Amino acid sequence: MVASSTSNATSLNDFLSAKMNANLATVFNATFNNEDHMFWRLGLVERGEETSEISALLYFSMDRAFKPYVSLAVTLSIILLVGLLFLVGGSVVLSRGIARPLQKLAQATGRIASGEYIEVEASSSDDEISALTTSFNQMIAAVKDREEKIVFQSCHDAETGLKNRNHFEIILSEEIANNDKFIIMIAEVPQLTEFRGVLDHGHINKLLTAVGQRLEQAAGAPVARVSADAFCLILKDDKNLETLPALVMNSFLIPFDVAGIKIDTGVKLGLTKYPDDSKDPAKLMQYVNSALDLARSSPKGVAWYVADRSEDFKNRLSMMSDLRDGIENGEVTFAYQAKFDLAAGKITTVEALVRWNSSTRGFVPPDDFIPFAERTGDVRHITDWGLREAVSQCAKWRKKGMDLTVAVNLSTSDLMNQNLPAQVLALLTEYALPATSLKLEVTESAVMHDMNRALDVLNMLSAMGMELSIDDYGTGYSSLSYLKKLPVNELKIDKSFVLNLSESEEDRILVRSTVELGHNLGLSITAEGVEDIESVNMLREYGCDVLQGYFISRPLAAADLEKFYNETKFDWA
Ligand code: C2E
Ligand code: CA
Ligand code: CA
Repeated sequence: MVASSTSNATSLNDFLSAKMNANLATVFNATFNNEDHMFWRLGLVERGEETSEISALLYFSMDRAFKPYVSLAVTLSIILLVGLLFLVGGSVVLSRGIARPLQKLAQATGRIASGEYIEVEASSSDDEISALTTSFNQMIAAVKDREEKIVFQSCHDAETGLKNRNHFEIILSEEIANNDKFIIMIAEVPQLTEFRGVLDHGHINKLLTAVGQRLEQAAGAPVARVSADAFCLILKDDKNLETLPALVMNSFLIPFDVAGIKIDTGVKLGLTKYPDDSKDPAKLMQYVNSALDLARSSPKGVAWYVADRSEDFKNRLSMMSDLRDGIENGEVTFAYQAKFDLAAGKITTVEALVRWNSSTRGFVPPDDFIPFAERTGDVRHITDWGLREAVSQCAKWRKKGMDLTVAVNLSTSDLMNQNLPAQVLALLTEYALPATSLKLEVTESAVMHDMNRALDVLNMLSAMGMELSIDDYGTGYSSLSYLKKLPVNELKIDKSFVLNLSESEEDRILVRSTVELGHNLGLSITAEGVEDIESVNMLREYGCDVLQGYFISRPLAAADLEKFYNETKFDWA
C-alpha cells in the first residue's frame, strides 16, 4: 500500500480536508479525479482516549490496483463462456443421439399398431441405443412371423395346406364384387368315412391333398377345403362349363396313389350359378350344398342347384311322418311284378314294389319318397315292414302251390345294418320258408358306399342260401373287379338300356356285352323294362335269362298277381 501522494496538491487538499472533517472511518472508499480510490487514515500521535489530531491519509487508486486482474477476469470469462458453449453443444448432440433413435422406435411402434412391420435402421455405433434397435427389429421380425403364421392358419386347412372355407368365402365375395358370371362347384368324396376307418391320419391327409390337386388339375381352378369331406372351386371359363363336371368325374377314374396304396374313390358334384341362382355369398354356399345333397342321391353323382328345394324339403319331412303312419295303418302295400324265366318258360320270381296310397296325399310314387326316406333313415321302416310282408305273402302263395320267389329291394342303410341277416333268418324260420324263397336286390351304389360293411352283410345272407341281385346295372360304377368280389347271383340290366333297345345301337351293344360278361362271371341276367316283343326277341337272341317289364306284366296287387300267374299263357315264349 502506498503511504502518501502529493500529486495534484490543491484539489487533493480540498478533498482531504472535506474527508477529514467528515469524520470518516479508518478505511474508506471514495471517488477522486474520476477514479475509485481506497483511503486509510492513520493517527500519528496517540493521546489517551482522544482521537489523534495529526494523522496520515494513505490512498491508492483502485483502478490501478485492479488493472493487472482485469485481463485475468476477461480470460476467465472467455474460458467460462467457451466452457458453457461446449456444455450446451455437447448436451444437444448427446440428447440428439439418444432422442432421435428413441423417436424412431416410437414411430415404428405406431406403425406396428397399424400393421406395418418396417424395421428401424440401426446406427453403426456399438452403444445401448443400437443394441435396443437391434432387439426391437428382432421383435418386429418375430411379431411379423407370428402374424404371418396366424394369417396363414386362418386361411388354410391345417391337414392339407389347401385354402380353407374362410379363405374361400373371401375369394367368393371378391368374385361377386367383380360381377362376372361364374359357377361354384362343391366336390365331395363319399367314401372318406369308410377310408377313415382303415387308413391312418397321415394317409388320409395325403389322400385329401391328392384329391384337392386332382380337382385343381381337372377343373383348372384353385380349390379350397370347405369341410371334412368337401372341396369348393369357382369356375369362370364359360366355354367348358357344360363339360367340366364330367371332366372332373372322369378324373376320379384313375386311382389315387397314397404312399404306395392304390385308392379307388368316386366324387359327388354340386353346382350353383352366380348371378342366376343368387347374388348373396351365404345363399350361394347354401345352394351349392343343397345341390350336393341332390348329387348324393343322383345316379350320375352330379347335380345343379334347384330352386325351392327348402320348401320341398320341409314338405318331404312331413311326408316322412305321414309315411310312418301310412305303414302303420295299411296305406302302404306291395305291388308284385312278374319276372319271366326264358329257359323255364314261366314266372319264377316276382319283384315286390312298394305302393303308397296316402289318405291325404293320394298316390305317391316310390321314386318320390324312397330316395328321401333313404336319407332320413325312414327307409328302415319300409324294409322292416316290406321283409315281413314279402315273406308272409310268399308263404301264402307257396301254400297254394305257387312256387314263387319274392324279390325285395334293399337300400344302402340296409346293407350297413349288420342285424339284417339275423332279422331275415328269423322271418324265414317264423314262416317256415327256405332261404331261396326270398331274393334281395341291391344297387351298385349302395354296395360301393361302404364296400367292406356291405360285403359283411351280403356274405352272411349268401351263406344262408339267399339269392342276391345287382339292381340298376349300368348306371353306377360298374367295375368288374368289385363284381367278382360280391356274392351275387344275378345282374339286372337297368331299364334305361332296355326301353329303347330296338332304336339304340349303343344300348344293344351294352346289353349284349353285359349278358356275355355276366355269364362269364357265372351270373344270371335279367333285363327290366321290357315293353315290346322286339325287345323280347333281341334279349332272347343275346342270351338274356330273365325278362321283366310291362310286356310281361305291370306290377300287380297280390290277388291280381295270383290270377295272372294261374291264368296267363305265354304264347310268345
Ligand atoms: P326298381 O327296383 O328298378 O324297380 C323297377 C321299376 O321299374 C319299378 O318302378 C317298376 O314299376 C318299373 N318298371 C317295371 N317294368 C317297367 C317297364 O316295362 N317300363 C317302365 N317304364 N318301367 C317299368 P317303381 O315301382 O316306380 O319303383 C321305383 C323304384 O323304387 C324301384 O326301382 C326301387 O328302386 C324303389 N323301390 C320300390 N319298392 C321299394 C321297396 O320296397 N324298398 C326299396 N328300398 N326301394 C323300393
Ligand atoms: Ca329292383
Ligand atoms: Ca332297376
